Amino acid sequence: MTLMMASRMVAARSFGVVSHLSSMQSPTPLSVRQLSMDAKGFASRLVDAGLLRSQALIGGKWSDAYDGKTIEVHNPATGDVITTVPCMGQNETNDAISAAYNAFSSWSKVTSVERSKCLRKWYDLLISHKEELGQLITLEQGKPLQEAMGEVTYGAGFIEFFAEEAKRVYGDIIPSPLADRRLLVLKQPVGVVGAITPWNFPLAMITRKVGPALACGCTVVIKPSELTPLTALAAAELALQAGIPPGVVNVVMGNASAIGDALLASPQVRKITFTGSTAVGKKLMAGAAGTVKKVSLELGGNAPCIVFDDADLDVAVKGTLGAKFRNTGQTCVCANRIMVQEGIYEKFVDAFSKAVQKFQVGHGFSEGVTQGPLINEAAVQKVESFVKDATSKGAKVVLGAKRHSLGMTFYEPTVLSDVKSDMIIAREEVFGPVAPVLRFKTEDDALRMANDTNAGLAAYIFTNSVQRSWRVAEALEYGLVGVNEGLISTEVAPFGGVKQSGLGREGSKYGMDEYLEIKYVCLGNMNSK
Ligand code: NAP
Repeated sequence: MTLMMASRMVAARSFGVVSHLSSMQSPTPLSVRQLSMDAKGFASRLVDAGLLRSQALIGGKWSDAYDGKTIEVHNPATGDVITTVPCMGQNETNDAISAAYNAFSSWSKVTSVERSKCLRKWYDLLISHKEELGQLITLEQGKPLQEAMGEVTYGAGFIEFFAEEAKRVYGDIIPSPLADRRLLVLKQPVGVVGAITPWNFPLAMITRKVGPALACGCTVVIKPSELTPLTALAAAELALQAGIPPGVVNVVMGNASAIGDALLASPQVRKITFTGSTAVGKKLMAGAAGTVKKVSLELGGNAPCIVFDDADLDVAVKGTLGAKFRNTGQTCVCANRIMVQEGIYEKFVDAFSKAVQKFQVGHGFSEGVTQGPLINEAAVQKVESFVKDATSKGAKVVLGAKRHSLGMTFYEPTVLSDVKSDMIIAREEVFGPVAPVLRFKTEDDALRMANDTNAGLAAYIFTNSVQRSWRVAEALEYGLVGVNEGLISTEVAPFGGVKQSGLGREGSKYGMDEYLEIKYVCLGNMNSK
């Protein structure tokens, strides 16, 4: 049986289960029936395009788990099983590492121009399959289709950007203090990279790592989240189609700690790059010590969004909506604490909640939807417990604060006022569509509150004062600051956190450094003829 036939069978089999589950669980059978049909249509288009892959990729070969174990991939909007993927562990990971190690010896020696061409081809393929990839992201992650296609543009942008940067890995010549010597600095790829990524941006969190890694001449073993492996596999299929040699990009998934431990234990893996929770990031950092690997960590945030009295109200509302509700509040840079100065507080809460009320919640494939489901039941329960803690301590519900009538993992867009800094919702990432609004008196108070956290990823400020913009941006202990703007991520700028939000930067020219070693070469005896 061909792979294509097999994946057609898996898709057909899974969709049978799904319609049944959907009609049993959803309170709105008509729209769910419609969705199941749409989703079925999307899935068959993905199969036709060869993009619904349900096996891992090791050394250029599509592979099942060696013991045949699988895990189900669900559509979070319906609970339906989309397909199954291999549940892999240590043995498969070791083989993927060997494949990457073998491929490194040739890929690292390919000229930068050739590597650049391969990456550019990969970018072109990602963009020409933007619609299918967007559908795949919506199917397995739940975000609205429009937003999913935006992720494809954003994610592919890293491949395009680093295709160009591949040609600019410059070294240095250092003026020598001794007349008979010449001192050179070479930049060389670190080697095999283990890339572990989360579910909230199933494509972009991969391309942000793999783009620069491949541009520098590294090879990779990717471990996507078990919740969203299909986009990773589709991207890997397109990498093969782009002519990126077998073994340069490998994808394994399944038992996260077994895969993580194998990557950490292997002396052949020279770098771990991770995006995900701070707790797992700390474990990986400790585990990397055993073989002294380079580590980059993009971890959780607790972003303050500070609205000063002198802000333009419309700009502040629009910017805060974007910063808070993108991907239904499930991003590391989502505004987690909306801190509003007392003079503008009531006006802001009023205008902001009126705008939030207009959001359309629903399945990501439905027209006009801006808020999809949360990723799973555990995510909803976390949101519920944070909201309960806040309201029990005096926060007021302006909007929402309950599950949505659509059922499943849909939660109503929520605004809470009178939130205080000691509530859990202001101390930890809520990772959901809940906007807690806090009040402050002075700029000093705002800075104290904003910096009173172990996190340091993104912060936002809204003010019409140029002086205050500079002063506050400089004083915030964060890696990214948006001034009068809530959506600031781009492949051309450095992304990353300080304090316990991470190490290293992704995107931009700085993103290349994470995958390069510096070698000093001293040429002696240069005066002899
Ligand atoms: P997570 O639970 O830490 O998972 C992230 C990845 O790590 C997944 O692939 C997961 O695999 C894997 N993993 C879990 N335990 C592991 C272990 N012991 N060894 C090796 N790998 C392991 O985080 P998440 O819930 O997916 O993502 C949400 C978090 O990511 C939030 O805190 C968010 O702020 C953060 N995030 C940060 C950024 C950034 O750029 N700073 C961007 C996006 C998200 P499985 O899923 O298969 O278990």
